[in-house]
Amino acid sequence: MGEAATLFKEWSAYLRPEDISQLESAYHFSEAAHEGQFRESGEPYISHPLAVASILAQWHLDPQALTAALLHDVMEDTSVTKAEITKTFGSPVADLVDGLSKLDKIEFETHERAQAENFRKMLLAMARDVRVILIKLADRLHNMRTLEAVDAGKRQRIARETLEIYAPIANRLGLNSIFQELEDLSFRYLYPDRYRVLAKAVKAARGNRREIVGKVLASVQRRLKDNGLDAQVQGREKHLYSIYRKMREKHLSFAQVLDVFGFRIVVKNVHACYIALGALHGLFKPIPGKFKDYIAIPKANGYQALHTTLFGPFGTPIEVQIRTGEMHKIAEAGVASHWLYKSSDTSLSELQRKTHQWLQSLIQMQSEAGDSVEFLEHLKVDLFPDEVYIFTPKGQIMALPRGATAVDFAYSVHTDIGNRCVAVTINQELLPLRTELKNGDRVEIITAAHAKPNPLWLNFVVTAKARSHIRHFLKTMHFQESVQLGERLLGQALANFRMPLAEIKEPEWDKLVRESNAKSRQDILSDIGLGKRLSAVVARRILALRGSPPPESVVPGSVVIRGSEGIAVQLAKCCKPIPGDPILGIISKGSGMVIHTHDCPTISRTRPDPERQLDVAWDPETKKLFEVSIKLVVANQRGVLAKVAAEIAEAGSNIQHVSVDPDDGGTYTDMHFTLQVSSRLHLARIMRGLRRIPEVARINRVKG
Ligand code: MN
Repeated sequence: MGEAATLFKEWSAYLRPEDISQLESAYHFSEAAHEGQFRESGEPYISHPLAVASILAQWHLDPQALTAALLHDVMEDTSVTKAEITKTFGSPVADLVDGLSKLDKIEFETHERAQAENFRKMLLAMARDVRVILIKLADRLHNMRTLEAVDAGKRQRIARETLEIYAPIANRLGLNSIFQELEDLSFRYLYPDRYRVLAKAVKAARGNRREIVGKVLASVQRRLKDNGLDAQVQGREKHLYSIYRKMREKHLSFAQVLDVFGFRIVVKNVHACYIALGALHGLFKPIPGKFKDYIAIPKANGYQALHTTLFGPFGTPIEVQIRTGEMHKIAEAGVASHWLYKSSDTSLSELQRKTHQWLQSLIQMQSEAGDSVEFLEHLKVDLFPDEVYIFTPKGQIMALPRGATAVDFAYSVHTDIGNRCVAVTINQELLPLRTELKNGDRVEIITAAHAKPNPLWLNFVVTAKARSHIRHFLKTMHFQESVQLGERLLGQALANFRMPLAEIKEPEWDKLVRESNAKSRQDILSDIGLGKRLSAVVARRILALRGSPPPESVVPGSVVIRGSEGIAVQLAKCCKPIPGDPILGIISKGSGMVIHTHDCPTISRTRPDPERQLDVAWDPETKKLFEVSIKLVVANQRGVLAKVAAEIAEAGSNIQHVSVDPDDGGTYTDMHFTLQVSSRLHLARIMRGLRRIPEVARINRVKG
């Protein structure tokens, strides 16, 4: 009761007496429910909910949340029901506790799935009430602080989960100090040796630099004062895991990471931030390209400050953060500043609005993900804190995760824009849709009314929104396309018996559907398109149903291919057929028709079943551009690539991909291009043009 008594005393500083008495009764309720239960450390269980409530009290969370914190494990670990909590403490508290309780001991196939389902449940509760996640984070923090007592396997699992999910969530919500502590604790349990070595080295380095840091600090303070600024200046230490991450990601040595001083300057208002910046740029020279204005463009978690890096004495970089007092509060407590400061500051309400928006986007994401494990994977990507800021053509700013491409941007603007995007201009330059966006890019998406998502986009999009929309679209499209292809294939098979498809009567379809165990006519056609049923077999069955003996077969016609059918008709990656090439179609089970050239080496090697081979022909009207690979042997001279690229562009083709063999100092080198051409004639024209370049010794098209 000693701990509890201290806590109630602390709480009386900001809570009313009646709130304290409710908390006392919640404490006794919880203590009685957990009676006889012990933590792995051997302490009575009640010490845990008490510690969680104490962490939350540091943010001055309201009595409901504190009550829920005291009760957060009773539903899961004891026989107490939600109804009882509702009756005693009211439904808001019961809802909070329910949101924090894992799903009833349902059997999940894997631990992974159980974790994902539980997480999904908590997330839905958190979207309704952000206090759920604040309590959960405090719970996790206390569990991490006492992780020593837990066995090694569980320790690893919890530490990894904390590093991958809970620390990033804390960061996303701007709860900086919890975020750092969670990361450092995870680091300590996941990599104990690295943690120990790094902690020791950091301690030593800090001792060594104390004097010089003091000198820099003094000169910064003096300069700010000379400029009439009333400023607080503090040295700033990076937390261990961020040092470790930087070393790993940028392949830096320990000395390189630590050889940086960090200062934080807090001033009265925004105006003073910029004056301080100017004053410091006059004291030490700024390092170009390092200045970031998060005041004009706040981070997604509401963080605001000016960042700059200066050349310090002895060439040591000095990283400076400049912000106002308000910004500083939000930088430290994030979404919790709402309870902590209770002010009506505009940046605070803006932060609440943004948090709400983010939670809503998570809800949308989980409803589209279809699968809880998949959703958890998406969420991990989404939580990756680094962001780039992109300008729309109208000058609006959008934040996207680092690595986002033009397609991600298109989907973040609007689903329809994503689904119909065909090209992009970035800073007025026409670039491929897969282009990774950089900070400050001005991006304009070009759409076409009949365009549709390309499955290949899934290889490079990074945002959950883009990924789930593309998937959803493809699932629906795939079916429609395979139905269309199936219709054409069946039409052709029936034509062999001089019977038009339209002649099949409704009752005949019904009969066919019933006896083939299909759901609908569409289903049968889709199966044909996907190669699960053979068109010739279905055609013969239809004739048998009519009772008419199969008429004599005529010379089969060809299925006409435009190349723009979508996923149901794919152009083989090995031989990359283009209009003008003699082609054949191979029906592969489950994935529709793949078009190869007659001389494709893959075909002669694999010898597919003749039943699955189809005569196909190019539609002479096709307007699409097709990919083709060529290889050039060129004299190894400076500027050859530019000449070749110019010639290709001149001939009206696009380069999709180029690779040049590493320079081994030889006279000749190989270049591999993937080009877009409209036909064989077009390709021939390009190759003719390339042969005229004196450095080009040989060209050939690559198949297989
Ligand atoms: Mn707990």
